[in-house]
Amino acid sequence: MERTFAIIKPDAVKNGVIGRILARIEQEGFRIVAMRLQHLSKREAEGFYAVHSARPFFGGLTDFMSSGPCVLLCLEAPDAIKTWRTLMGATNPANAEPGTMRKEFGASIDNNATHGSDAPETAAFELGYFFRGLEL
Ligand code: ATP
Ligand code: MG
Repeated sequence: MERTFAIIKPDAVKNGVIGRILARIEQEGFRIVAMRLQHLSKREAEGFYAVHSARPFFGGLTDFMSSGPCVLLCLEAPDAIKTWRTLMGATNPANAEPGTMRKEFGASIDNNATHGSDAPETAAFELGYFFRGLEL
């Protein structure tokens, strides 16, 4: 079994599709290990996406991520990191496969509905950033 960190981003929460995304997560066989609704501060969003701090889109990305509540999730499944990335689809919803979360619920590269860790090291960092050991 493997664990990954996922976010239902502020656009998807505002659009009222938390339930539909969670339903797909469960249908695809993930176990929800931990889950919390949280409105990130700008500073918390900057810490989370620190790896992108030099990118031109960093300010817009962290404004967006702190623009409303998110759903923070720890998901467990065999090969969870890759399976969730596949279910999310490409970063830009315009390039995402039909049936993926970003194709169905994302509007643009800035408003792309979901996040998923991209490697075991990032999953470990991201889970530890948002969840206490006792919650996992
Ligand atoms: P995430 O980390 O949110 O799951 P990702 O791993 O598919 O997305 P990253 O390269 O980590 O993509 O980029 C993080 C976020 O930054 C993306 O979700 C997207 O909203 C934004 N982003 C990435 N590249 C661009 C870009 N060229 N222009 C604008 N925004 C971008
Ligand atoms: Mg990423």
